[in-house]
Amino acid sequence: MAPQNHTTDLDAASVVGRLRRTFTTHRTASPEWRRGQLTALRTLLTDHRDDLLAALAEDLGKGPEEAYRTEIGFTLHEIAHTLDRLDDWLEPRPAELPERLLPATAHTVREPLGVVLVIAPWNYPLQLALAPLVGALAAGNCAVVKPSELAPATSAALARLLPRYLDSDAVAVVEGAVPETTALLAQRFDHIFYTGNGTVGRIVLAAAAPHLTPVTLELGGKSPVVLDPGTDLAAAARRLVTGKFLNAGQTCVAPDYVLAIGDTAREIEPHLAAAVRETYGADPAGAEEYGRIVNERHFDRLTALLDSGRTVIGGAHDRAARYLAPTVLADVAPDAPVMQEEIFGPILPIVPVPDLDAAIAFINDRDKPLALYAFTASEDTKRRLLAETSSGALTFGLPVAHLTAPELPFGGVGESGMGRYHGEYSLDTFSHTKAVLDKPLA
Ligand code: NAD
Repeated sequence: MAPQNHTTDLDAASVVGRLRRTFTTHRTASPEWRRGQLTALRTLLTDHRDDLLAALAEDLGKGPEEAYRTEIGFTLHEIAHTLDRLDDWLEPRPAELPERLLPATAHTVREPLGVVLVIAPWNYPLQLALAPLVGALAAGNCAVVKPSELAPATSAALARLLPRYLDSDAVAVVEGAVPETTALLAQRFDHIFYTGNGTVGRIVLAAAAPHLTPVTLELGGKSPVVLDPGTDLAAAARRLVTGKFLNAGQTCVAPDYVLAIGDTAREIEPHLAAAVRETYGADPAGAEEYGRIVNERHFDRLTALLDSGRTVIGGAHDRAARYLAPTVLADVAPDAPVMQEEIFGPILPIVPVPDLDAAIAFINDRDKPLALYAFTASEDTKRRLLAETSSGALTFGLPVAHLTAPELPFGGVGESGMGRYHGEYSLDTFSHTKAVLDKPLA
């Protein structure tokens, strides 16, 4: 792998050219090929479960249960959901015609786009490379997968295994960092699917423009939690802790901060502390299922945020082990450093607000989040949050879990991204829906 800002030996044109030649044979369009690839991917994940768990432990200190559930199991579920429904999704859909066009018939078909590029980030380095690939293959495309260089063990495993199980003239893995991604982005793709931060998202969008390549951007940002008086704070705290500290907080839809209305700001504190102890024990450093920070740069960035409020629980850290304890900060001011950027780590700030109006104003003053969460017993609060805010997803009572339902679209809005995927939404993303009209000449 070439170091950043060096040139690369990668011949991106020949990688893409090889895949494009395969695409023009039309073999990837057949439902049998698509099913065969998805089945082979399933076999890969089953055969190499232990190798992949070891790679994820090496890259991010992920425990085996969490790594299986959020990476391998997640992808297997996406594959099973897709295989079960693919025939139905590929059926032509009849369309009604206006009377002035009759007699005639019409329908729509989903056709493959061609050669697509999937650029994955480091935080769920397997899931976020393979779940988009499931959609790309289900839609009958060839694909280049570019895993993240910041999860090198998982990247190497994908580069080693995918060509062995999948049609290697249709799927290529390109490892590397900025030079390799830049070389790939100079090529013409038929779709680019990027997951990562908004700065690089803009680079991807700009690189796609000369080719008129459609782009999906799965970005991040700060996902708020509204805590309403009258809600069950013990239950809310348990669910907040589960969603926030998964993968040591390095989850795009992790609850970023809590907007605690009125007395809930104080009242939630002991419940959060208890939920952290219940989940990770008295010393989370020894918990098998508690992850590590991806690298020292992110560790230093995160520990610099620890002074942003009063510590309710946590704060302990060890740079050599890239360990940062699950941390809750109270009395955090809106202008505190921890509130200036996506935290993407195990720090949960509690920001007190007087009422729901203030919470809604706070959310609407900032970028549209990837997810908005609320714990409330009030239907009126739910109705107002739905009507008066915008976010990729809105979830009441259970952070993070919406992304595990392939029936729901997953994606952002505004600064949190564009486009959506999972389940049938992935098929739509990686297909062109073509209108077909047939009118007899006489
Ligand atoms: P990252 O550093 O791994 O970068 C993502 C990809 O972009 C990598 O493959 C990398 O090689 C490539 N890249 C980096 N710099 C580039 C450049 N200059 N030109 C071209 N390509 C480049 O991951 P990251 O961006 O740190 O990921 C974290 C961010 O991703 C967070 O903001 C998080 O919220 C977001 N995220 C979003 C989702 C989602 O599904 N919406 C999921 C995970 C992460």
